[in-house]
Amino acid sequence: MRIAIVVGAGPAGLMAAETLARAGLRVTVIEQCQTPGRKFLMAGRGGLNLTHSESLPQFLTRYGEAKPWLQPAVEAFPPQALCSWAEGLGHKTVVGSSGRIFPESFRATELLRSWLIELGELGVSLQTGLRFTGFLPPEDDGPKLVIGCVPKDGPVKEFGADVIVLALGGASWPRTGSDGTWTPLMSKMGIGSAPLTPTNCGYRVTWTPVFREHFAGVPLKNVRCSIGATASRGDAMITSTGIEGGPIYALSDALHSLGTKPHLMLDLAPDIAHGVLKTRLENTRTNLSLPKLLERTAKLSPVAISLLREITRNNVPREPERLADLIHRAKLKLDGPEPIARAISTRGGILEDELSSDWMLAKLPGVFVAGEMLNWTAPTGGYLLQACFATGRAAAVGALRWLDKTC
Ligand SMILES: Cc1cc2nc3c(=O)[nH]c(=O)nc-3n(C[C@H](O)[C@H](O)[C@H](O)COP(=O)(O)OP(=O)(O)OC[C@H]3O[C@@H](n4cnc5c(N)ncnc54)[C@H](O)[C@@H]3O)c2cc1C
Repeated sequence: MRIAIVVGAGPAGLMAAETLARAGLRVTVIEQCQTPGRKFLMAGRGGLNLTHSESLPQFLTRYGEAKPWLQPAVEAFPPQALCSWAEGLGHKTVVGSSGRIFPESFRATELLRSWLIELGELGVSLQTGLRFTGFLPPEDDGPKLVIGCVPKDGPVKEFGADVIVLALGGASWPRTGSDGTWTPLMSKMGIGSAPLTPTNCGYRVTWTPVFREHFAGVPLKNVRCSIGATASRGDAMITSTGIEGGPIYALSDALHSLGTKPHLMLDLAPDIAHGVLKTRLENTRTNLSLPKLLERTAKLSPVAISLLREITRNNVPREPERLADLIHRAKLKLDGPEPIARAISTRGGILEDELSSDWMLAKLPGVFVAGEMLNWTAPTGGYLLQACFATGRAAAVGALRWLDKTC
């Protein structure tokens, strides 16, 4: 029986394991945490956004520069296939008002539980608490590929296989196990990767103590954020150290391109045309307090009003034209991204050039790579998980094809 090892029990690794086991291979999954799928479970905390219902051509554009090489994997396992897979495990999916797709429970817990039962029935052996530390020279009469893995305390354990899929993840939320420590290991073997940096992350802002105390944890509702021509809209969240949330994450690439200290334009009243707002400001009694004026004319919330004070250092203009400009184009200076440990995902990873066809490392025949450890990125909206599942499956299919050719 042919043997496969998958390293990393996240969505990419487990999907590779399932595909290989269904093809009749003996599969062992190695995971350094004591339990599998910890980031997947984390993703489920705020509602597990599995994928998105938009048309496939539109969906694929979300991968930006990585689209050409991710496209075959996503086309072979598109959003509809992912939904059918979840339903096959007994978890119907639902489409939210934004087009995002979730399991009916909105959580990852039940889905992962059903998946692990299915993998067990397929004969997949899950070895947790073992850290992959690198490749070892093979014995003459043994399997061609051998890896070393260490438990927390104890000697190195060796695992031999005919094919290996690496799915070690990115470097955000390292306490879920994806700590990015595979990068020096890969570079020692001459395998190039782009540095892992935070993306889909919050940005730091130096708030005044008063603002921080009153508004950390308060949503800034219905705001339009923009950088040049790139804009996004939704609810942002003020945090004690900065600002985060969907509209900020959606500008990840644009913010990244601005360097270490970017700025963001905020439209705090995106539904009110500039001229209308100016007229309202002109026609409102001038003796109103600033909060009352802004509440009445622009429907601004207390957090939005205080944000204008924060941005102008408490010099909010009263002159209608200038005030309307400020409400529609408030410039918020950012101090850079929040640390990688708090990002939803990472940019960077193993370069496309390192892969031969079928997701195999050209320098390590028989070793395939999947998931977030590859150099692609996408916004939130289900695009991250979809690509992880799809590349996990594609790497396994590649491994099967390679086995057919070589063994
Ligand atoms: C808070 C949060 C919310 C998110 N929400 C969503 C969402 O709703 N929708 C969405 O599409 N995406 C979401 N994501 C992103 C998504 O969870 C990840 O993109 C996805 O989990 C990556 O899958 P992966 O299998 O490539 O890697 P991971 O899930 O990171 O799994 C990699 C595994 O490899 C293991 N590993 C690493 N190194 C070693 C080693 N040396 N030896 C052994 N094992 C090792 C790790 O312990 C880990 O279990 C979210 C992420 C976060 C942090």
